[in-house]
This record gives sequence, C-alpha cells and structure tokens, in this order.
Amino acid sequence: MRQDEVMQLLAGADDPGLFSAAEALTRQTFGTEIYLRGVIEFSNYCQNNCRYCGLRLANQNVHRYRMDVTDIVACVRLARELSLGTVVIQSGDDFTYSREDIGRIITEAKTDAGVAVTLSLGDRPESDFTYWRELGADRYLLKIETFDAALYAKARPGLTLADRLRRVEALREAGFEVGSGIITDLPGMTPEILAHDLLRLSDLDLDMLAVGPFVPHPETPYGQEPAGSILTAFRAMAILRLLNPLANIPSTSALNALRDGAREQGLTVGANVIMPSLTPETVSSDYAIYPGKNALRADARARVEATRQAIRRVGHEPSTAIGGSKRRCHHV
Ligand code: SAH
Ligand code: SF4
Repeated sequence: MRQDEVMQLLAGADDPGLFSAAEALTRQTFGTEIYLRGVIEFSNYCQNNCRYCGLRLANQNVHRYRMDVTDIVACVRLARELSLGTVVIQSGDDFTYSREDIGRIITEAKTDAGVAVTLSLGDRPESDFTYWRELGADRYLLKIETFDAALYAKARPGLTLADRLRRVEALREAGFEVGSGIITDLPGMTPEILAHDLLRLSDLDLDMLAVGPFVPHPETPYGQEPAGSILTAFRAMAILRLLNPLANIPSTSALNALRDGAREQGLTVGANVIMPSLTPETVSSDYAIYPGKNALRADARARVEATRQAIRRVGHEPSTAIGGSKRRCHHV
C-alpha cells in the first residue's frame, strides 16, 4: 500500500470495505479463535519520564508498588489455572529487578506452569535480552510509539528512536518473537506521520503489532491534550492487518479506557488477541498508565471470565492456545 492510500483509508474513505476486508483476512488466518494473554503488571516504578504516561518518574501522585518474585510466580500459576496460554510480564522501566530476578520468573513459568512468556520491561540492556531468551522467554513487546524521530524525542525525553529501533533489532537477533506498536493520536502526530508509522511498522515484519489510542493522563505534561480517536485506532488496526496478514494483533485496553466495549469491538476490525490483566486487585488500580486502566474492580479470575464473555459477545471463540506467531515455522 502506498502512503497516499493509507492516508485515504485513515481519513475514512472506505470504512465498510476496510473493516470487512481486515476481518475476513483475520478469520482466514485464525478462524474464529481469539488468543488470550494474561498480563501481570508487577511494578509501577519507572525511571523514565515519557510525557504521555502516568507512571513517569516525575509523577508524585501515584502510589508506587513492587511485587516480589514469589507473588509474580503465583500470578503465573493462576494464568495456567485459568487456561491462559501466555503471560505478559510488564512493568515500568524498573531496573531494581535484576536480570536474575526476571530469570527466576521465566524459569518457573517455563517449567512449572508451562506457559509462553512475553516480557515487556522496556529499555533493558541487550545482554539481558539474550540471557532471558536463553532461559526460555518466548516473546518481547517493545513499542516504537512513533517512527517520527522529533516526536519520539519530545514524548520520551532523553531517549531516541534510533536506540529503540536498535533494541527491537537486538530482540529479533536474540530469537524472540518480537512485538511492537504505536500510539495513535499522540500529541503532535499528523495524518502523514501516522500513515508513515503504519508503513514503517509493517516494514519491520514483526510477530505482533499493537495500536493503542492516546489516553490523556491528568498528571502528565500531555494531560490537557485531546484523547485519541477510537475510529482512527480501528482504521490503523485494520490497515495493519491488511499489511500483515499473519501477525498477532491485540485489541488494546487503551480502547476500553476511552469507551467501554471498544476493546471487544476491535476484535472485529483485524485484532485476534486480547490481554486481560491478572494483576492482583490490591495494586492493579495503581498501574495507571492512563486513567481507566484496570478500573474494573474485579479479581483476576472474574476479569478473565468477563473477557471471555466479551469475546463471545462479538461472535468469536476464546482460545486456550499458546498462540505463537504464524510467521514462524515452529508449531506451538
Ligand atoms: N515501560 C515499558 C512498558 C510499560 S508501558 C515501556 O514503556 O515499554 C506500556 C505501553 O503503554 C507503552 O509502550 C505505551 O505505548 C503505552 N502507554 C503509556 N501511556 C499511554 C497513554 N497515555 N496512552 C496510550 N498508551 C500509553
Ligand atoms: Fe515508563 Fe513505559 Fe510509562 Fe515510559 S511508557 S514512563 S517507560 S512505564
């Protein structure tokens, strides 16, 4: 697809055609199955100051928590109990967890629980990536956020797009299934930038692609900026599906933060993955990347059940498969 075609689709030139083509292609590859990933948000400490994110270091109005390794492992076991094929271990960029700490979680998950492990731990050193991969971690999620170098530098002070891209490459070389993605309607993002981002993201030829609309958090520098458009996020997801027929594409929780029910609707415009939070109720509301994240006051078990019901509501089937990348030859 050319940049001008992407821009036309993003502007709404043919929503019915776009959404039905994306949905048909998704069903062709995945049938009616939707993969579930249980997300464990184990720490909300962060050393960075991303202008969009409520967990940024400078935000003092957040109650910070860290789960210890034993509690994280208990969440991994819960994932297995609930028949979730994958756990996503996510946090702010909190380097007080050593690579060995994370390694223990991976080892427990791969031996005891036997689930696929996705890590989403931010900009850790490349030597950590290879160490975790050797212990059996399967996937790593590191969003590019935007491929516009100036916008990136502004949104993530002190960090560079080139560095993020190098890390994505290092993850691929280490043998991970690699996921990345963007934030649509990030303040300063023009339609040109978004179209370019979708094409660049597709050029990376990754295993997973995530689109999350920008959700303003009042305690951040971007707190007064307008919320992203759900429709734009849906169009971006559908375009990514057309460009990446085999990729795993999640319907992100940022969608639900903007409108209840938008996340399940995303499962009808190209997404084939949904990621309920398994984070213990005692801390999950503190994992406030943006308002409305983990707002649902229900225990992890009930959250997973609600997610399965939401999948059925839009006519699909919750899967218990590990749901590995279809871009690869291995059979999981
Ligand atoms: N610290 C790690 C992982 C946790 S943040 C990292 O940054 O990679 C996970 C994702 O949350 C980020 O990649 C970003 O895309 C998303 N995010 C943060 N704040 C957001 C906001 N206000 N609106 C939408 N997405 C946001
Ligand atoms: Fe930290 Fe990630 Fe939030 Fe940036 S997006 S402040 S790195 S948690």
